[in-house]
Amino acid sequence: MIKDKILLPTLIFATGNPGKAKEVGELLDGLMTVKSLKDIGFTEEIPEDHPTLEANAIQKAQHIYDRYGEDCFAEDTGMEVTALNGAPGVYSARYAGLQRNDQDNMDLVLKNLKDKEDRSAQFRTVVALILDGEIHTFTGIVKGEIAKTKTGEMGFGYDPIFVPQGHSTSFAEMGAADKNKISHRGRAIEKLIAFLKQHTDKG
Ligand code: IMP
Repeated sequence: MIKDKILLPTLIFATGNPGKAKEVGELLDGLMTVKSLKDIGFTEEIPEDHPTLEANAIQKAQHIYDRYGEDCFAEDTGMEVTALNGAPGVYSARYAGLQRNDQDNMDLVLKNLKDKEDRSAQFRTVVALILDGEIHTFTGIVKGEIAKTKTGEMGFGYDPIFVPQGHSTSFAEMGAADKNKISHRGRAIEKLIAFLKQHTDKG
């Protein structure tokens, strides 16, 4: 009901990515009213210059909290390949260069894994929440394998080369709903939701 929605607490999602804001907003529907940076008129680039996903997620949330003094959260994601010692990891977006091109990034992963037997990898998302001035983090992981070639047209980023454990198709061959049920981001947001529900019950 619209009336209920108006009474829900508001949480800012510190992302410039409208797709992520929509996806996460839908997951939190009925619990919180999620506002993206676009919704609050914030158009600058948030600094993201730490060497870990955790520190970057906290940095993004803290940047917005310092500016607006309102409850907010941010997330950072990386793909970690075992045979590449955890690379591309926190540098996933610019693995093949500052052009931040998905095709170039995937091609470089495939090239670097050419002679490796171990193709295991994982996606890891860290969500950082600042609620009443306190920082809380939630991690979501999905394990899988790097395929030999790209397959599928859906999703984004490294999805065409990532086959989640227990599945025979890449993330890019799955619909968004199926991917979100098992994905790193979906799992981290599930933990965020459980925390927010508990907090709301206590409040
Ligand atoms: P960011 O957290 O949006 O900065 O993402 C870092 C890098 O990981 C970018 O290259 C994204 O394309 C990639 N990435 C993030 N989430 C996913 C995903 O769910 N599937 C595939 N690639 C992703």
